[in-house]
Amino acid sequence: MDYRIRDDYPSDYEAKKLILEVGRRMYAKNFVASNDGNISCKVSETTLWCTPTGVSKGFMTDDMLVLMDLDGNVLKGSRAPSSEMKMHLRVYTENPKVKAVVHAHPPAATSYAIAGLPLNSAILTEAVMGIGEIPVAPYAMPGTQEVPDSIAPFVNTHNGCLLANHGALTWGNDVMEAWMRMESIEYYALVSMYTRGLIGHANELTCDQVDRLIERRTNSGITTGGRPHCRSCEDGAAVCPTCGTVTSSAAPDTPSANGSPQADIDQVVQIVKDILSSQQFQ
Ligand SMILES: [Zn+2]
Repeated sequence: MDYRIRDDYPSDYEAKKLILEVGRRMYAKNFVASNDGNISCKVSETTLWCTPTGVSKGFMTDDMLVLMDLDGNVLKGSRAPSSEMKMHLRVYTENPKVKAVVHAHPPAATSYAIAGLPLNSAILTEAVMGIGEIPVAPYAMPGTQEVPDSIAPFVNTHNGCLLANHGALTWGNDVMEAWMRMESIEYYALVSMYTRGLIGHANELTCDQVDRLIERRTNSGITTGGRPHCRSCEDGAAVCPTCGTVTSSAAPDTPSANGSPQADIDQVVQIVKDILSSQQFQ
């Protein structure tokens, strides 16, 4: 399948084909369990195809998909749209440049979301260039207006976010870009767990190295993503003494699970040990 950044909208056929393909990949990679997760793709300024509620994303057929407008009215399809579609619609209304949204519960990223920890350390060159920092949207009661409200602050500045005690959300110029950002977030989370939790050490990039990576990201046309913390930002200072970065990726009203950074890290270590011992990654 061709993957390319495009400025126009895909046809109905293309949008549905991509949603089905990403659904299969999402399920095969263990990014969702049961009927979890949802995918949507705009086909015009005001309409989008999305996944239905109550269906495994690994076993969808095109007749299950739903066409709706940005107000949430169903235009085509015999099934009800996912209840989490309110979150997708809010992304589209906040940032009209976004054409696709992917939501999943990948285990490593979700563990960070449970711990209330953003992915914001400059430890991976590809993550700095490709997705930037990933903040945590504050806890929101499923199915309520709190959910779209919680993610709205990040839609124009970042490429995705963690959803506290829930999962992860990404958006992009097309379904594949949003999906690849979801893959990148999970990889970033997993490597963060290995280095900080299991190995106990990570060499953060320097301010200068982060600057050069972000310059390359900007030159490639990606103007969102924020700035992960460089090596000098890592001592708990509110502002990096070298580059001046304000270290405020976590939403201020997202409480940590146990009230201290060390307790949070201990919790993440335990989570990753549990995941590894259950052999999910073999
Ligand atoms: Zn969910």
